[in-house]
Amino acid sequence: MSHSPLILDGNKLAAEIRSELREKVKQTGKSPCLAAILVGNDGGSESYVAHKMNDCAEVGFQSRLIRFPDSVSSQELLQAINNLNTDPNVDGFIVQLPLPPSISNQSVIQAIAPQKDVDGFHPENIGKLSLGLPGFVAATPWGIMELLRRYQIPLSGKHAVVVGRSNIVGSPLSVLMSRPGADATVTLTHSKTRNLKELCQQADIVVAALGIPGFLTADMVSEGAVVIDVGTTRVPDPSHPRGWRLKGDVDFESVAPKCSAITPVPGGVGPMTRIGLLMNTWRAFETK
Ligand code: NAP
Repeated sequence: MSHSPLILDGNKLAAEIRSELREKVKQTGKSPCLAAILVGNDGGSESYVAHKMNDCAEVGFQSRLIRFPDSVSSQELLQAINNLNTDPNVDGFIVQLPLPPSISNQSVIQAIAPQKDVDGFHPENIGKLSLGLPGFVAATPWGIMELLRRYQIPLSGKHAVVVGRSNIVGSPLSVLMSRPGADATVTLTHSKTRNLKELCQQADIVVAALGIPGFLTADMVSEGAVVIDVGTTRVPDPSHPRGWRLKGDVDFESVAPKCSAITPVPGGVGPMTRIGLLMNTWRAFETK
């Protein structure tokens, strides 16, 4: 059976939440400050950080960008992190990943003070997430949960299949969805999962977060499923002025007619992820 699914519009929701945050800033008369450390000149990282800084400006937050060349030493980077940890004017900060191969991501993440770790990558925040304690939740899983909540997509008792087990998306999302209160039954899958197609076919909710464009096809989803597409791969597109476009992990054209609800790419999970960072920054400011 083919029908028009509900399009879960991340752009629209993100705009609503930004105006809520603007209002909070106005009411308090105070402006939280987010800092970002950017190493090197990777095109993707440059544009992600620029978006984050613009988002701050849009809601009335302050922001600060600290740049280093690719040749930065671990010691210099750790010193910059320490400075931000102790700077009372900075509420939260991120170190944009990936870092040059000579620098250990883990040592950098672990150097961030957990109460300023607005990316939610520090082991203390991941531990709190697992235990259901208050802490910073990574922006993408937070954004997906908020999207589902605001669209009133029921999770309780539903079977959710999450494809991809990364530390920043699939794993934390599986924890959030299966927590008391959310109450989904979650199957977390990965590249070694054997019967992935059959598992997806049994799901009420499928989250595709693996980074393979068009991976989830119509034969893998059941009628009426809710499909969340996290993938954002740049694929060549000569018709686009910049020569590429973003493509999700879901074959939208074939899958959408079978779904009850689906996120588009772009305009679904991406804008909600950006909101996740703003919300964590607000929280860091409020709880300091
Ligand atoms: P990642 O770290 O590369 O992890 C990919 C996961 O997918 C791994 O767990 C991997 O399994 C699994 N996988 C790979 N091939 C598979 C297959 N054939 N079948 C089942 N599982 C498979 O990726 P990520 O950082 O989570 O990102 C995933 C995608 O989301 C990327 O396109 C990324 O750009 C996008 N993303 C978007 C946002 C947003 O805001 N929209 C935010 C973050 C990421 P193994 O563990 O077994 O290797």
